[in-house]
Order: sequence, then C-alpha cells, then structure tokens
Amino acid sequence: MEIQIQRQSSKCLGCNKPFSHNQKQYSLLKIENLNFLREDYCETCWLKRSQFPPTGETYSQWETKYRDPSVAKATPEEQYKPLLDICYESIAQGGPETEAMAYMCSLVLRRQKIFKFIREEKGDSGKRKVLIFADKYNDTQIRIVDPQLTESQMENTRRALQERLGQPRGNGNERENLAS
Ligand SMILES: [Zn+2]
Repeated sequence: MEIQIQRQSSKCLGCNKPFSHNQKQYSLLKIENLNFLREDYCETCWLKRSQFPPTGETYSQWETKYRDPSVAKATPEEQYKPLLDICYESIAQGGPETEAMAYMCSLVLRRQKIFKFIREEKGDSGKRKVLIFADKYNDTQIRIVDPQLTESQMENTRRALQERLGQPRGNGNERENLAS
C-alpha cells in the first residue's frame, strides 16, 4: 500500500507555460487508481478551467505560489515539516484515529526519505506490529503502531491527511505541503 503525492509541476497544465518563482498558482488534487493526482494551473487557465473539465473526483483545491526548486532547496524542511508535525501530534494524542494518521504520515515520510525504516517489533499486547523508524530530521527514533487498516480506513485516513495538508489552518499562510 503506497501513497503517492506528486510534486508541484513547473508549468501550467492548461497553457503549458512555465511558472515563474512566486507566481500565483492554483492546484487541485484528485484521486485516481488510489494515487493522488495533482494538477497545477496559472491564474488565467484556472479562471477558464471550465474549458477542460476535470475527470475524476476532486478532493481538494487550493491557491499557492510556484516555488522554484532551486529556491525551495534552501528551506527543504518546509516541504515535510507539516507532515512531521502531524505525525508527532498524532502519536502524542493516541487513540485509533490518530494512530491511523501517524501511520499514514510515516508512510509518506518514509517515501520522502525523512523516515528510514529500521525494524519491526511486537507491540505490548504481542498482537500488534510496531514499526521503528529513524527520524532523520529530529535525529531520533520513532515507534509507529501499524493499525492494520482496512482498505476503506486507509482511504479515509489518506483523505483526512490530505485535507490537513492541503488546506491552510486559519493563519492564512500558504502551505505547499503536498509538493514534496
Ligand atoms: Zn495556464
């Protein structure tokens, strides 16, 4: 089971023009074949988007700025820090729902090579698996319970995570969390 989030693309899907650094950009996220499918548009094309109606179900859309990768590289933690935060928050809270969220975050962080899988252990009860990761950002190890999610729980968690990442939480800051 993998989660795949595409990077911000360097050009508009509508007119194919490359984005310039900090250019306003409109993005939407769909799920197709269990993968996130991301589309990025310039402002002009976004306003004309009815001309190329989207296929598939749109899960989220947001406004952001295009970040030139060479500039983004200077602050790479911006790209995965929100995921890390959600992961640690979820672990701290405990409970089945947050366990699922922490697990989902760990999958993405592993893919992003922020978490490195070390080993699997048996949980306290002996029934559940616990995954041990090295968190390279915090230079620590982290224990993630494998909640043994069903396909639909996986889907719900994926959706909930996507919502938390894709939509700014009240402070008006643009977040580009799905770009990495
Ligand atoms: Zn365009």
